Amino acid sequence: MGHKTNTESGDFLVILSDAYMDKRTLLKLLTAVAVAGCGQQSSTTKRLRVVVAGAGIVGASIAYHLAKSGASVTVIDKQGPATHASRGTFAWVNATWAKQPRHYHALNRDSLADWRQLQKLLNLPVRWGGSLEWFDGVDRQEKLVAQIAEQVEWGEPARMVDASEFATLEPHVKFDKAAIAAYSPNDGAVDPVLATQMLLNAAERLGATVSYPSELMDASTSGGRLTSVVTSTGSIEADRLVLATGAAFELPKSIAGIDIPQRSTPGIIAVTEPMTRLLNHVIAAPGIHMHQRDDGRVVIGEQDGAPQNEAHTIRLEGRPNDFPVQEIARQHGNRMLSIAKQFVPGMADAVIHDAYVGWRPLPIDGHPVLGATPANPDFYLAIMHSGVSLAPIVGQLVAHELTQAATIERLEQFRPTRTFQNVKLY
Ligand SMILES: Cc1cc2nc3c(=O)[nH]c(=O)nc-3n(C[C@H](O)[C@H](O)[C@H](O)COP(=O)(O)OP(=O)(O)OC[C@H]3O[C@@H](n4cnc5c(N)ncnc54)[C@H](O)[C@@H]3O)c2cc1C
Repeated sequence: MGHKTNTESGDFLVILSDAYMDKRTLLKLLTAVAVAGCGQQSSTTKRLRVVVAGAGIVGASIAYHLAKSGASVTVIDKQGPATHASRGTFAWVNATWAKQPRHYHALNRDSLADWRQLQKLLNLPVRWGGSLEWFDGVDRQEKLVAQIAEQVEWGEPARMVDASEFATLEPHVKFDKAAIAAYSPNDGAVDPVLATQMLLNAAERLGATVSYPSELMDASTSGGRLTSVVTSTGSIEADRLVLATGAAFELPKSIAGIDIPQRSTPGIIAVTEPMTRLLNHVIAAPGIHMHQRDDGRVVIGEQDGAPQNEAHTIRLEGRPNDFPVQEIARQHGNRMLSIAKQFVPGMADAVIHDAYVGWRPLPIDGHPVLGATPANPDFYLAIMHSGVSLAPIVGQLVAHELTQAATIERLEQFRPTRTFQNVKLY
């Protein structure tokens, strides 16, 4: 005989209480359950009510992990799931040389391992196989060799490959016979819109509510603690508010009273109609990045962005996530496709399906901003670039900090109160 105790963490503990168990043993077991559940809420205590503002991939992962930890979760988005950076993203999941310094590299590396776990659990659309990267110019290539040597020192299975190995790995990609490329076998790429939606679906199955369009407008406090979140569709009583609002610069200041120095730069992502398999890896070639998803679509991102001219400057005012008309999206898609074809001649007949503008949520030091605000411990910021790479680990750590009232040591370097160095990355 036995009965189940819902720890509200998604797990059920079976407590044996059959005739053979004496009272003392049972008491000990019950105490152990109470300690294990400390910080999560038992079925008799109040569940932590969390509003997650932002249904991009970061907000979706946080919501899923919060719901899994037993919190009562409401996700709101002013537009809809994956309509901003999490749509206009290249979605390369990596912990390559650009992830500096070592503690930030480690966060990305561990998140890749978490992607594999989450993928197994929720059947998420991640395609593994690694990346191949190279640059124009002798100096930059020499630097890449040094950067890969550092990766190896840090325990990554990365290495340089020559043209003949490259041809075996990627038979359809044209590569200079004299060149070498960095091969990072642990990398992958995600279908970010589908993954975001699937994380939200999983959160909903665990009891979360996802609401959009619903814009975060304000937050009410009493005695210095959050009482409710004010949205365009009404108020929601809440104990914590997570701002996973990406490149919406103004929100940390207007809602949580803290200014995060951010630089949000635009990028264009073009996606083709499905094609027969041409690419096995993420290809980071000079000027252009590509990968081919499981659905056969090739995703193309550019390294330097669209040409700077007056028309573009005017169009980019107001930071739009869509092109004004489909014809302009098609033109940009075809411009990028023509560069991609130089490296992958098999894409000669490729047809652009769509193109998006994405604005990077980019704290000026390039690192995530994770943690409660100094003015109010109930407001928690989760703003970052490389949010696709980082979503699984961030979701897990943020949910842990919030539901366990814990402080996770490895997040200390990413707090909103740090001094931000200005590092030009993208
Ligand atoms: C061109 C480009 C290429 C990139 N390439 C990569 C890459 O290869 N690998 C990688 O790991 N990362 C990459 N990134 C970065 C990555 O895409 C982002 O870090 C990630 O998508 C951020 O997710 P998010 O959920 O924080 O933000 P978003 O996806 O932007 O979501 C924020 C959400 O907040 C909502 N919101 C805003 N204001 C409010 C409000 N007041 N009320 C309610 N909701 C609100 C928005 O509607 C939006 O849906 C790239 C980004 C870009 C733009």
